[in-house]
Amino acid sequence: MPSLSKRTEHFTDSVIRRMTRVSLRYGAVNLSQGFPDFDPPRELTERLAQAAAKGPHQYALTWGAQNFREALAKKHAHFSGLYMDPDREITVTCGSTEAMMAAVMSVVNPGERVIVFSPFYENYGADAVLSGAVPVYVPLIPPEFHFDPEALEDAFRQGAKALILCNPSNPCGKVFTYDEMRLIAELAIRYDAFVITDEVYEHIIYEPHRHVYMAALPGMRERTITCNSLSKTYSITGWRLGYVLAPEEVSERVKKVHDFLTVGAAAPLMEAAVAGLELPDDYYRELQAGYQHRKDLFTGGLRALDFQFTDPQGAYYVMMDVSQWMRPGESDVAFCEWLAREVGVGAVPGSSFFREDVNHLIRFHFAKQDATLNAALERLADLRAKAAGR
Ligand code: GLN
Repeated sequence: MPSLSKRTEHFTDSVIRRMTRVSLRYGAVNLSQGFPDFDPPRELTERLAQAAAKGPHQYALTWGAQNFREALAKKHAHFSGLYMDPDREITVTCGSTEAMMAAVMSVVNPGERVIVFSPFYENYGADAVLSGAVPVYVPLIPPEFHFDPEALEDAFRQGAKALILCNPSNPCGKVFTYDEMRLIAELAIRYDAFVITDEVYEHIIYEPHRHVYMAALPGMRERTITCNSLSKTYSITGWRLGYVLAPEEVSERVKKVHDFLTVGAAAPLMEAAVAGLELPDDYYRELQAGYQHRKDLFTGGLRALDFQFTDPQGAYYVMMDVSQWMRPGESDVAFCEWLAREVGVGAVPGSSFFREDVNHLIRFHFAKQDATLNAALERLADLRAKAAGR
């Protein structure tokens, strides 16, 4: 057989997605890959039924249906104060996974550096590999997950082309403060780099924290590439609707990359999702209240069991310290497999998210109904006893 590509030689599959398969195999309560087990708003599913009957069923415009981009521009302007031109500055993609890949491919040449905070969302590693970028990691230091401004400036000094910013952060739950955002922005301007943001948890944020839009900071509109999706905001992770917001010159490029990667997002789903983009402010307040409730339920349960974990400011993940239950020399991957099989709860091994050698943390998500979270907590109550018998 001829050889396979060098670029993908050291590729692993996504551990996040793998843990969903492991959870299914053992019948575990799946708190690994982050997605809800509750329904999207009725407005969307009803509009989807209409789209099934009346269409559209053929390709939409490559960069997204006109009414979808217009609704998106309006919704984004409402929350961020920034109006992005639907014709020139918006590209609709198949999930934010494609958005991020298209953004990185559009601005980075092979061998150029991209700054990534660690811990990071798993896909950024693959984005760097596929685009030939060289990641430069800057640690977020627990328990606050703050960063050292000197370390960040050092990374910029190495000649970074872009910085990837996940805010609110998956997996650590950090919400970057206004001052931190200003500092990142100032460095990006001083060292002439792009900032590529991943803002999929923009609306999942806990009091008193606030989402700051990088593109809205002084001097940043022209160098920020905002990646986002409708997955988490409207509980439609399977619809694969994402988007890139960027200045016209960058968007021109993103549109072409997107065109050849996937042609376009699904037309009937875009049509139905317009109903989500048009929902009133109350929807977002209720979404936040719902997640505040799930966070309180799940973290309250973990606290009652006396577990050590990170309490998120945004997004819907906790990182739990499991060092005391691991066998000597055991990997967190093996531990998570044991946890799914013997305790019956699916989690993601923390090592998937860190550049540093971290092997004692696992990630749970709590985007689930009360009954699911309670079932997981009930099973976790047996963790100590089961681990003692290992
Ligand atoms: N963002 C989700 C997570 O971190 C999953 C996203 C995905 O699998 N595409 O679990």
